[in-house]
Amino acid sequence: MTDLTTSLIHHAYLPPEGFAAPQPGVFKASTVIFPNVAAMRNFEWKDKSAYTYGLHGTPTTYMLEERLCTLEGGKHCVLAPSGLAAIALTALSLLKSGDEVLIPDNAYGPSKVLAAGELKAFGISHSFYDAMNPEDLAAKISTHTKLVWLEAAGSVTLEFPDLCEMVRICKARDVTAALDNTWGAGLAFSPFDLMPGADSPLGVDVSVHALTKYPSGGGDVLMGSVITRSDSLAMKFKLTHMRLGLGVGANDAEAVLRSLPSMALRYRAHDETTRALATWSQTRREFTQVLHPSLPGSPGHENWKSLCKSGAGGAAGLFSVMVDARFSRDRVDAFCDALKLFKIGYSWGGPMSLVVPYDLAQMRGTRPQHLHEGTLVRFSIGLEVAADLQADLEHALAGALS
Ligand SMILES: *Cc1c(COP(=O)(O)O)cnc(C)c1O
Repeated sequence: MTDLTTSLIHHAYLPPEGFAAPQPGVFKASTVIFPNVAAMRNFEWKDKSAYTYGLHGTPTTYMLEERLCTLEGGKHCVLAPSGLAAIALTALSLLKSGDEVLIPDNAYGPSKVLAAGELKAFGISHSFYDAMNPEDLAAKISTHTKLVWLEAAGSVTLEFPDLCEMVRICKARDVTAALDNTWGAGLAFSPFDLMPGADSPLGVDVSVHALTKYPSGGGDVLMGSVITRSDSLAMKFKLTHMRLGLGVGANDAEAVLRSLPSMALRYRAHDETTRALATWSQTRREFTQVLHPSLPGSPGHENWKSLCKSGAGGAAGLFSVMVDARFSRDRVDAFCDALKLFKIGYSWGGPMSLVVPYDLAQMRGTRPQHLHEGTLVRFSIGLEVAADLQADLEHALAGALS
């Protein structure tokens, strides 16, 4: 007779098979148990034919990866513990000392900081290109360029680039094109098939997604994904992922699996409310410019229209305003502080609306011509009712910017 302590660990009971429920079960493991030593030696995780160690995948992470491939139209997916970790994983998988990476001037800030920090220290150089000028990208690609980042729309300033043209340039020059697809989320357009219906698919090589935003949808999970259709790129990502040990927690993976079924509906709700508030913001004389790709006149609107207008015409849940330069930075801060429903905080994609004032001078070397003078304020629209958010904005404007 084994001791009770041992029996509670090596218990003989197995629940009957065939349990089914709307949500998949959560499998948590560092150790994975093999049936025998031969299996331990032979099992392969890289093609997902088996399990070997928690870090290399579990039924929970494999399932999330496959669903994300479906969402974005990819073939292989690797999960990372944050969106930024997914960006770093992409760079570290594809770049080595002596290589160069090109980054759009309106890219997600921490991506630029990574290039100036670790990548530079590893002997990988970087250069910024004008996201709104494909010719500038073409001119900057050199024999050292091994990776081009793309972002649509750009972070904070939300210019919408000519994605198709930039992907064509990368293909013609044989440089890997990686898109930060957090904004489009696999819903506004298809990153691997930018012109559905065309004879041959035109698409990015890699799509990186901060699952922290819409796929999580709760403002409570950090996670990222790297997706590709290429078998050879996927193998690089898997091996670097393994060597860096970038595992994700099963409970976090489950939270994203739980939120995915409602993602398209949430995205549409964010989108509708955002457009209503952005359109209303255009009528306010405190704001000299409203940045939102679906608004005619917003930088890159025509590009957005030709890429995203088929189908539902997604435009996500972000818009920014330029507050008239006659209001000091302090007054703009006071406006943000006066908002009650909009909370002050980074990130987006959750139920709660958020606001952040940005210092453009810190974010861009030179102020782009298409951006008006003044202080930029970015709104991330949650799932509240538009009229309530508008009333909150009206109240704060009257109190702080009158
Ligand atoms: C938030 C965000 C990221 C990073 O995601 P984290 O999970 O916060 O690290 C990357 N790119 C874009 C465009 C983002 O908005």
